[in-house]
Amino acid sequence: MQVPFVDLRLDAAEVWEDILAAVTAAVEGGRYILGPEVQAFERDFAAFCEVPYAVGVASGTDALLLACMAAGLGAGDKVIVPANTFIATFDGVSRSGAIPVPVDPDPDLYTLDAASVEAALDSSTRAVMPVHLYGQFADIEDLASLCADRGLVLIEDAAQAHGARFNGRRAGSFGAAGCFSFYPSKNLGALGDGGALVTTDEATADAVRMLRDYGQARKNEHSRIGLNSRLDEVQAAALRVKLGILDAGNEKRARAAGLYREGLASLGDVVTPAVREGSDHIYHLFIIRCTDRDRLRDHLAEKEISTGLHYPIPAHMQPAYSFLGYGRGDFPVTERLCGEILSLPMFPSITPVQIEYVCDAIKSFYGRGKA
Ligand SMILES: *Cc1c(COP(=O)(O)O)cnc(C)c1O
Repeated sequence: MQVPFVDLRLDAAEVWEDILAAVTAAVEGGRYILGPEVQAFERDFAAFCEVPYAVGVASGTDALLLACMAAGLGAGDKVIVPANTFIATFDGVSRSGAIPVPVDPDPDLYTLDAASVEAALDSSTRAVMPVHLYGQFADIEDLASLCADRGLVLIEDAAQAHGARFNGRRAGSFGAAGCFSFYPSKNLGALGDGGALVTTDEATADAVRMLRDYGQARKNEHSRIGLNSRLDEVQAAALRVKLGILDAGNEKRARAAGLYREGLASLGDVVTPAVREGSDHIYHLFIIRCTDRDRLRDHLAEKEISTGLHYPIPAHMQPAYSFLGYGRGDFPVTERLCGEILSLPMFPSITPVQIEYVCDAIKSFYGRGKA
């Protein structure tokens, strides 16, 4: 048996004809950039996130950058980010001119909590950018109160949390802005790159609409230095169809996660994900912590099981961020996670048989169960 890490075509199989029809209509519509499909998707995605505004952009990284720009962040401003995240969280902040300030996450939940963020604030801190990593929330309600008390801008990196709820509210709806990626393998994925920023604030939505379009306030009137970062019609058409199966896909992921938990429960060498009180987990990734990780990964590869590492080298140890001046040992929780985490195959259409095969392969590695 083979178990891929994700299977994007199989996940979309039930709506394949609808996607092709929607894409064909968008192609025949002849608009291509910022046309009616983008407007319709922005309405649909805002409604899905239960906020008044959504603005389609070119990628999740750009959504983060545009959120920083719309908040007026720039040189000298510090933005708290989790030390363990995808590099794009750091990039969005840095591109705006602001300085990403990493904070170690909770060691069991892998996301930021308000107490550690509070301890890292100083007089230059202007914003906090929690990441709802792997598909579950950071300590969002406490972070929102902390930001409100201290006059800080809260920007959610929700690129791994499309549709997750915390005490009933959707990811992206807590901050001044919620930033999403539609990279193909995300829980809501396009047929290429794409992203969106959602907000409850009309001024933020207007600012991002202007900034994504060369800073153009009115035709040929450029009030700020902007960028070209727009969602296109073909992607919007496909995303509208796929939005219709997002919640169902997230439920399938949760069922798959339950089967992994059962299958791995008896193994002392493996820690399955803890879930934060109040938070859904939509399992963008199913991450275990395990002993002897690299050899386990090789063993699974021999059995044709694809796995991933999210992420093996933290941002503060990447050459691109050496200018921040951190080194090994500065973020011990993140550095330890980097050596222990393993991402198992996770996608809505993964089957119970495939999950059992993966669990058996892990048990056989640790010397228990079927070989
Ligand atoms: C995917 C991702 C991004 C970046 O999104 P792109 O669309 O690839 O630019 C940012 N943050 C996190 C946490 C991500 O997983």
